[in-house]
Amino acid sequence: MRFRTLIAILSACLMAGCSGVSDVSDKAVDSFFAMDTYMTITAYGDGAASAADAAKAEILRLDSLWSVTDENSDIYAVNNSNGSPQQMSDDTIDLLEYTLDICEKTSGAIDPTIYPLVEKWGFVTEKYYVPSENEINILLQHVDYTKLSVTDGGIILPEGMMIDLGAVGKGRAGQLAAEIVREHGITSALLDVGGNIQTVGSRTDGEAWRLGLRDPFSDGTIGVISVRDKAVVTSGGYERFFVSDSKEYCHIIDPHSGMPVDNDLASVTVIADNGTLCDALSTALYVMGCDGAVSYWKDNGISDGFDLILITDSSDIYVTEGIITDFALSDGYEHIEVHAVS
Ligand code: AMP
Ligand code: MG
Repeated sequence: MRFRTLIAILSACLMAGCSGVSDVSDKAVDSFFAMDTYMTITAYGDGAASAADAAKAEILRLDSLWSVTDENSDIYAVNNSNGSPQQMSDDTIDLLEYTLDICEKTSGAIDPTIYPLVEKWGFVTEKYYVPSENEINILLQHVDYTKLSVTDGGIILPEGMMIDLGAVGKGRAGQLAAEIVREHGITSALLDVGGNIQTVGSRTDGEAWRLGLRDPFSDGTIGVISVRDKAVVTSGGYERFFVSDSKEYCHIIDPHSGMPVDNDLASVTVIADNGTLCDALSTALYVMGCDGAVSYWKDNGISDGFDLILITDSSDIYVTEGIITDFALSDGYEHIEVHAVS
């Protein structure tokens, strides 16, 4: 794994995503910073500017609910509630309930109560630190999504526990922002929500959006995914990590061990209509490793409506049947072995 900045990811995705778009009179491009990352909304057609404005406003509104550091956010309130019930907005309740469902289905591979470990390893402040086994074990006592109770309008988080929606918030924000763009009558838009891509309709020339899939081992684009009206979300250790004593530690933590994930996967890309599902699963399946991810797809992929592109540490690619004809290797990558999963 090598370090790649988020900006590089974004520019690669956008380059591929926008290539070949024919000229239309109305085009709006809005780039801004939210949820700790750069986002770009590109919309085409009549009303593109107001659609992009409304989508951006929605993302900023959700950011203010889900920020871990904003003292006015829902998440800040629950993290400082000392075990007492907290009233939350419907958006937060909905996202937490959805996330808890995926926690259950993935046997806790994704767990929003992992936050104390994410913080301890230094991924919140970028003051990186390798905790001792003892420190990890103490913090792991506060990691257990089953102890979080979500009721109508409120959340109870036991004292000592903290949550973070970092693994799902951008996916949900992209999904809700795309709905707003569609409500404005837009049939062609690309929302880049910090590397999570949410497409609306197709390109203005009627062709599918062509999204670049990043090579986790270089600056390159390993392949191109053609989609319409879908979300495409990638998780990978290469997106954020630090090195200590020649060892790499990535930002996705295995909730069972408290350790940064270090398995046979370099990246997991999930493609589905539902951006929240994509974001939750990309993180969870990255934790589960290649065999775990493939077997999760075999059990749930068709019923839940998602496809996967898995890139292993040895540069093999596994592509599930629903996306295989819409995936092509980039020039120069023809030597890579693509395994069809069905
Ligand atoms: P993503 O980029 O969507 O894969 O989400 C990764 C982010 O979610 C990290 O930067 C952490 O803030 C948080 N996180 C890390 N590991 C987990 C985990 N196992 N479950 C839930 N959230 C996690
Ligand atoms: Mg995620």
